[in-house]
Amino acid sequence: MKRTWHDSHVFFIFIIMRKKRNYLIIISVFLLITILTIVIKNNNQNLDYYIEGEPKITLYLHQENEVIELGLEEYLVGVIAAEMPASFELEALKAQAIAARTYTIRKIIEGREYPLNADLSDNINECQAYISLDEFKKRNPKNYSELQEKLIKAVYETKGEILMYQNNEVIDALYHSTCGGYTESAEDAWGNHVPYLKSIKCVYCEKSRHYETEQVFSNSEFNQIFNINDAQLKIDILEKSNSGRIKKMKINNQIIYGDRLRNLLSLPSTWLGIEINEHEVIINNRGYGHGVGMCQYGTNGMAKEGYSYEEILNKYYQNIDIIKISY
Ligand SMILES: [Zn+2]
Repeated sequence: MKRTWHDSHVFFIFIIMRKKRNYLIIISVFLLITILTIVIKNNNQNLDYYIEGEPKITLYLHQENEVIELGLEEYLVGVIAAEMPASFELEALKAQAIAARTYTIRKIIEGREYPLNADLSDNINECQAYISLDEFKKRNPKNYSELQEKLIKAVYETKGEILMYQNNEVIDALYHSTCGGYTESAEDAWGNHVPYLKSIKCVYCEKSRHYETEQVFSNSEFNQIFNINDAQLKIDILEKSNSGRIKKMKINNQIIYGDRLRNLLSLPSTWLGIEINEHEVIINNRGYGHGVGMCQYGTNGMAKEGYSYEEILNKYYQNIDIIKISY
């Protein structure tokens, strides 16, 4: 498509040269093409995919084990329906739509293969959640049409908008439910430095029901999970991230990493404190999710205080640009 578009203009210039011999026009057209090419190249990593109208994507539905085809924006309505409460503020839903669109486009550019050769999957362990509007209706029987209208508005009023870093990278737009006060840097979470995924203070998610939670395990239950036979349970926290999340700890003689601990105990996050008493192990958690990138409840908190989706996105992803792709 890119070559055809460019060739047609070269041909056009050739005609002008023959008929008019107006060099000023030729130079102007060349300049215009050069500027347009630079702008489009900078704005799109995969130009061919975007410029011929709204892209279609294929989505693997993991429970049905089948693939459906959807328009990109149509798909995003189902993603934000599944990933964020539709009762959230419109600006929060718009921020979510852009984060989800960016995440989607990055996945497509990465070219990861999902089952049955689909572009994307609705399995949250490897991609984003998605629900059909029928499913959304079942989950919101009372005010379905009002909420659906809001979701569609959030997606279509931000149509084509994605987040880029330094105009040459579609960002890895990670998001999570509730950070608990500080987001986590990608470096602390996974060991790779990502300049737009830093740990930042968030005072906007305090109203989330996941902000502070408590999980209680009986000593025997805890000992069974960690295969501990000793009578005396001993826990030492060895390493924390800058945000306060646990990276490494010692449970009796076992070294346990934060993510492993979270998985084994099905904890909402790795930001936690542990108390042991005679009968129980009490874990006080902060936040819900990996904590990297956009805090969804924080997003809604910001929207309630009057921040725009641009301001919200620029808080949770640093030094990024919001770029609009035309299709
Ligand atoms: Zn937060």
